[in-house]
Amino acid sequence: MVTTHSLGFPRIGARRELKFAQEAFWKSQISEEDLQITGADLRRRHWQNQQHLDRVPVGDFSFYDQVLDMTFTLGNLPERVSDTGGSELDRYFRVARGRSGQESACCGVQAGEMTKWFDTNYHYIVPEFQQHTCFQLNANRLIEQITEARAQGHSPKPVIIGPVTYLWLGKAKDESDRLLLLESLLPVYSQLLDLLADHGIEWVQVDEPALVNDLDADWRHAFSLAYHHLKTSAPKLLVTTYFGELRENLQLACELPVAGLHLDAISAPQEVARVVDWLPAHKQLSLGVVNGRNIWRTDLEKTLDWLEPVYEKLGDRLWLAPSCSLLHVPVDLASEETLDPEIRSWLAFAIQKLDELNTLSTALNHGRTAVREQLAESAFAVNSRETSERVHDASVRARIADISPVFGQRQSPYPDRINTQQQKLGLPRFPTTTIGSFPQTRDIRQTRLQFRKGELTEADYNARIREEVRRCITEQEALGLDVLVHGEAERNDMVEYFGEQLDGYAFSQFGWVQSYGSRCVKPPILFGDISRPKAMTVEWIRYAQSLTEKPLKGMLTGPVTILNWSFVRDDQPRRESCLQLALAIGEEVLDLEAAGVGIIQIDEAALREGLPLRQSDWNNYLGWAIDAFRIAANGVRDETQIHTHMCYSEFNDIIEAIARMDADVITIETSRSDMELLDAFRGFQYPNDIGPGVYDIHSPNIPDSEQIRSLMMKAAERIPAERLWVNPDCGLKTRQWEEVLPALRSMVAAARQLRASV
Ligand code: GLN
Ligand code: ZN
Repeated sequence: MVTTHSLGFPRIGARRELKFAQEAFWKSQISEEDLQITGADLRRRHWQNQQHLDRVPVGDFSFYDQVLDMTFTLGNLPERVSDTGGSELDRYFRVARGRSGQESACCGVQAGEMTKWFDTNYHYIVPEFQQHTCFQLNANRLIEQITEARAQGHSPKPVIIGPVTYLWLGKAKDESDRLLLLESLLPVYSQLLDLLADHGIEWVQVDEPALVNDLDADWRHAFSLAYHHLKTSAPKLLVTTYFGELRENLQLACELPVAGLHLDAISAPQEVARVVDWLPAHKQLSLGVVNGRNIWRTDLEKTLDWLEPVYEKLGDRLWLAPSCSLLHVPVDLASEETLDPEIRSWLAFAIQKLDELNTLSTALNHGRTAVREQLAESAFAVNSRETSERVHDASVRARIADISPVFGQRQSPYPDRINTQQQKLGLPRFPTTTIGSFPQTRDIRQTRLQFRKGELTEADYNARIREEVRRCITEQEALGLDVLVHGEAERNDMVEYFGEQLDGYAFSQFGWVQSYGSRCVKPPILFGDISRPKAMTVEWIRYAQSLTEKPLKGMLTGPVTILNWSFVRDDQPRRESCLQLALAIGEEVLDLEAAGVGIIQIDEAALREGLPLRQSDWNNYLGWAIDAFRIAANGVRDETQIHTHMCYSEFNDIIEAIARMDADVITIETSRSDMELLDAFRGFQYPNDIGPGVYDIHSPNIPDSEQIRSLMMKAAERIPAERLWVNPDCGLKTRQWEEVLPALRSMVAAARQLRASV
């Protein structure tokens, strides 16, 4: 018989119950006990959802983040929270977000750094290390939850992050080598495993996704060292890898002295056969056969076609699971009432994915006939999707086939066209602008909501949004900004707004996925060939331009960012979907140009996020991603100025690709790096204009003009002054007008001083 299990379940709840409880607790509207009750309820429900599995994960539930949980389990708390009082949960939230509930506001500390969990959109709290970091076991949470799961009749399989991945994910705060901590870390892991054995645990899932990354010899050696140290027969260890191929680490992974290995057969299908061959005969092999990161139904028959021979070889040694934790997909498709039924029939969320797993294991254990109906249903859905006219649009295909190298090539090189633009725009030196959005007030959000609910007619809605645009233009003129924007009041989200207007996109009602802490995102579902039935932004931008003599910057989201923040198709390469998006955005760019919009910004906030885990795959990704941007942006005349915006601060390793985008102006986040990140641009002799962000929009602090001026002076040491713009780090939608106005006043004042002095 095959064993079924799951690597983790979404914790936020089908209705985002956890989010609402967390936020209520932080506002002191509910007690810690109430929050704990919500947590226990969710765990109970989620184990019930998984009850047909042979083993349920325990320890995957978290009040904020599983890496931070591990930090607490290992007693690796940053010193700054050690004497802040309160409960353990208070300390936990202090590390997570700087403070716990409202009454403990007095004990605010610096929040832990947050970063992306491998190549997903989940963010974890980075473990902090020092040369003399000491670890100390605190397994209460895990042990309590094991007891809880047992009391509810489940067979618990604790989930922990493995020692090497834990170190890999962290950062030394004192420049020491964090790998040297392995020696003091391992005894604590041993202690934990002993304790789990005492509690009758048979299997522990030890997550080591670091194995799918580029590892140098020291890190590879750390794996052997660690697992030789932890070698134990009770409990048995299942080392899990996911999100990618093991490649040169495959043999290492197979040979670790543990009882089992989990391989992500969705992202590394071609490694299954090798692992089946390599894996020593006493080891179990868990295969991730259902995609834990996407929302498509599995083609069950096709899966069984390759899985049956594997089962024949491995017999009872075979385990089945989703490819990775289901954290990255929404909870339950059954909640969706408004999705188009045809599209809905192609989808599977976490609960449906576990059903699929069940069907697969039954088919292996008892033959395909035992699940004839389920297989037929799956085949029907697969066939319907493969042949649906809504997915396949011949005219889109034809346009993709027509793409030739001249696509995406500006008419003239930058030095020539920038002169043409200058003559037309007549901007001063150090031109001032913003990144696009202005405060999304309660009023605006209310207006959009009412319109969605049908409580507001389209005409009334348009009138109100126009009012907002007018206000935004008036304020910008009063401030004396040089290039204005319309303010984005009509947009709920920079991706959803475009997805809603493109053919080939669908939207869920409850398809929430945790991004970090209580923050969830609801990625739109890119299901079919993409086309643009009509202009998406032109009316708003044209209206805004009609209100001012100053140049107005049209605002679009770029194809790569739309792609990276969506659930995307698995029936064609990402590249293909991205090119389709590029053609659609490109049409919008040309419509804006034809409407007399002289400056167009195309945001690529998520370009960097899409980088593959392995450096050797970067060129391929950057190749098509940058092509897509160029196709979207570069069909314009010389006199039309293209801007792009990116809100992160690492450019060193992708500067060549950034330069290939050939945007006339790039605005970036720099204020927190003291302009040092411009070194990457200087070193590369990046030729085009740059707007280094001069203040951090995430902070409520209001910069004074002297701060801004001195930052710009630092910028001017690196980039010729005539190529510099002055702008904030990012959009202003999360701020209040009371904060935005004085901040921008300082910015404009600083630009005027610069013009006079530099
Ligand atoms: N134009 C967008 C805004 O200003 C850009 C947001 C972003 O880069 N994340 O809100
Ligand atoms: Zn930004």
